[in-house]
Amino acid sequence: MLETICDIMVDAYKRNWITSRDGNVSIRHHDRDHFYITPSGVRKQTLQPDQFKKIKINRSIASGWGTVDFLYAWEEMPYSDISSALKPSGEIPLHFGLQKEMGQHKDDVRVVVHVHPTYCVAAMHAGIDLSTIVDSFPELSRYTKVAPNVGDVPPISQELADQCFKKLQLDKDGNIAYDIVGIKGHGVVAIDTSPWRAYEHIERLEHICKIVLASGNY
Ligand SMILES: [Zn+2]
Repeated sequence: MLETICDIMVDAYKRNWITSRDGNVSIRHHDRDHFYITPSGVRKQTLQPDQFKKIKINRSIASGWGTVDFLYAWEEMPYSDISSALKPSGEIPLHFGLQKEMGQHKDDVRVVVHVHPTYCVAAMHAGIDLSTIVDSFPELSRYTKVAPNVGDVPPISQELADQCFKKLQLDKDGNIAYDIVGIKGHGVVAIDTSPWRAYEHIERLEHICKIVLASGNY
């Protein structure tokens, strides 16, 4: 599936959803305690599977009175010679938070895709909450649940990650209530069980945003 992630990033680049070094993706299989994430700063048109970073998820029990909570931390694992010279994506707080527990994807695969699709970002810039678009375009909600927008937050920050978790309604077991969330002035984050399934949430929302903006009625 790492090759498929490379394919979707090339496709995202061709669609102008990212410039060369933007965008990031992570993938975790349910029976592994690690995930893979795209490296920071590489050109996505030429992304290769051996450039990915392998990240271990460390989980320990935090003792408390009558409740069991877990503490989580991540660490890099050796993967390939090329990869060892690279750093993980700066958006790793976002990916780690969504990959440390897999929620409804706990028997499957979880893929998290972050890109900057033109019309989704333009719609948010025009003041549209992406979660309200479904009111006029019900076809969208058949396959894609859109969360309320995240407001202005700094890129590659824990605040961006935390706000995305809040709007996706991420719980401690990793369950999420939505498939995609928009970040104002920035981009979107989509989650599903394969790279193309996550990508299709973005494609579907982008298409409707393009229609809304073309109509001039918003
Ligand atoms: Zn971004």
